Amino acid sequence: MGKVGFTVAAAAAVVTCAVAVTVVSKRVKSRRKWRKVVGVLREFEEICGTPLSRLKQIVDAMAVEMHAGLASEGGSKLKMLLTFVDKLPTGSERGVYYALDLGGTNFRVLRVQLGGRRSSIVRQDVERKPIPEHLMTSSSEELFDFIAKSLKEFVEKETDEDSSVSSVKKRELGFTFSFPVKQTSVSSGILMKWTKGFSIRDMVGKDVCDCLQQALSRQGLDMHVVSLVNDTVGTLALGHYNDEDTVAAVIIGTGTNACYYERADAIIKSQGFPSSTGFMVVNMEWGNFWSSHLPRTIYDIELDADSPNPNDQGFEKMISGMYLGEIARRVILRMSQESDIFGPISSSLVKPFILRTPLMSTMHEDDTPDLREVARILEEVLEIQDVPHKVRKLVVNICDVVTRRAARLAAAGIIGILKKIGRDGSGGIAGGRSKDTSSSKMRRAVVAVEGGLYSNYRMFREYLNEAVTEILGEELSSFVELMVTEDGSGIGAALLAASYSSEMEDT
Ligand code: ADP
Ligand code: MG
Repeated sequence: MGKVGFTVAAAAAVVTCAVAVTVVSKRVKSRRKWRKVVGVLREFEEICGTPLSRLKQIVDAMAVEMHAGLASEGGSKLKMLLTFVDKLPTGSERGVYYALDLGGTNFRVLRVQLGGRRSSIVRQDVERKPIPEHLMTSSSEELFDFIAKSLKEFVEKETDEDSSVSSVKKRELGFTFSFPVKQTSVSSGILMKWTKGFSIRDMVGKDVCDCLQQALSRQGLDMHVVSLVNDTVGTLALGHYNDEDTVAAVIIGTGTNACYYERADAIIKSQGFPSSTGFMVVNMEWGNFWSSHLPRTIYDIELDADSPNPNDQGFEKMISGMYLGEIARRVILRMSQESDIFGPISSSLVKPFILRTPLMSTMHEDDTPDLREVARILEEVLEIQDVPHKVRKLVVNICDVVTRRAARLAAAGIIGILKKIGRDGSGGIAGGRSKDTSSSKMRRAVVAVEGGLYSNYRMFREYLNEAVTEILGEELSSFVELMVTEDGSGIGAALLAASYSSEMEDT
């Protein structure tokens, strides 16, 4: 071999070696990156863990906090607000009643015609409309005029449609107002503060029913506001109308809250209220529940710190539809910061709340073999292109961890309520499950559940139902039923208007 030939061969060998080394080191690097990312997921999964032992601690904590919240004002992060609703619809109500539902994603106007036999809502009409954004920060007069006008148009339409409804002489109205209100009777309450993006300064401290009643008369509507409730109480009312064993209601939508039927003697005397029935519905405001047993991650801590209401609504921030997608986004972002498996960090990925929970559920429930929906949403919403299959699977895993934790915590909360009222088969908060508290003492208990997260997100619902069975055991859980209601928040207010109607009281 000549000198030139030798040099060429040697150079070729060096290049081959170099390429081989680069390939190997690339592989090593990518494996290392992958391990890092999987590490982020494992750590997240571990901290989010909700084994049965932990769920039971949360059940107990919920029952104990409920007790404390009832015992004294400020005694717990659970406000345990009295609603003054001391009777629930029974099914014997008759007549036509109206309701307005403000405080959810849509504003609703409703009418129900009741036939006087259980579950015989003869007819119901619901009209949904979004609240124009400028009204959310306007004056109370402008907001309530809009509401009253919507109701007036709704009532005027019926005159043309149905003479049996339009012949109703006296129109009575239930008002679902899902904001923190300090009630003073079943038909009056003071707004404590706005939430959910509303901010109308001249309204805080005012009586909500007065504001509505005045707007109705400005519109020339002869209607009387009979009941003021929030969405949970409305849902409980509809649940109870359908099934008398309904003892509690839970909302799991954009936000989360619960209420239940409490014995009057469990509510302390200093809160003194006149209950003719010995019971009262208590609005727990459970979104604010907190316990050291809740599995909290760095993502929860950061989400809370960045929120407009830090240290507030801790339970809600782990459970409700407003937040689940955002928690998942934060985990994906962390992974992108640790490695480039998602490519360069896009400007969308750093935007808070860009990954809405319905998108997250679409990814979680993607059953295409190549996880096409996951890829689409990552690309369209988070601007993450060309995601390999194993990374798509990783994203599904993140959604699963977030949702599983949320659903299981909500389940523990529900059993906590049943425990507080002695309907979980354990003999109340004092005693653990003992021999004499067998299923023979168990009575059927129904919990009405409403909200887009529970009703539209199948995996969430399945995890929640599964956890209820796990906590109570097969035998006892057969006595507990979760019943989905629809529009219960509004229809229930109309049903309560019927329960508290002067006509019903006259008879
Ligand atoms: P609101 O709570 O505002 O009264 P809903 O009860 O209808 O309204 O709940 C709407 C919320 O439910 C949405 O904000 C969203 O978080 C959640 N949601 C709706 N559809 C889905 C879905 N397909 N998957 C997951 N979450 C959903
Ligand atoms: Mg709602």
